[in-house]
Amino acid sequence: MKQIAYRLEGIAVNRHARRSELARYRRETSGALLTYLVDVDQPLDVPILKNAARSWLDALPRRMRSCIVCSGLIWERQRVGWLLLSVPAVPKPPAASVCGICIECADLPLAALERAATTALQAAVPGGRFAPMEART
Ligand SMILES: [Zn+2]
Repeated sequence: MKQIAYRLEGIAVNRHARRSELARYRRETSGALLTYLVDVDQPLDVPILKNAARSWLDALPRRMRSCIVCSGLIWERQRVGWLLLSVPAVPKPPAASVCGICIECADLPLAALERAATTALQAAVPGGRFAPMEART
């Protein structure tokens, strides 16, 4: 079972937030996302992550997704190699977001997956960089 947990540090921004909300959101997120790279079949014991992963998977194939590494389409569960889950690093995160990595890209070196994940999460955390969870508490 594989799970990689990271903090993505930078300034967290909700794309839809108004300016006034943005300031609050930045405070609330303290500029970090907690991210988890998980196996599709991995049981998640955090409800917010479990729900986000399930609804993402349940939406296939009606909502076709693309792999954050190669942009290849993901239209069914069997095509999913990893799920990249992220939540604002706050005590009670309001929502989790989900990105998919396809089965072909699943075996790429972690560094390549990290680069793709960093790019995919720039909208949420401009200038964000990954740091191991242990680096900050
Ligand atoms: Zn891919």
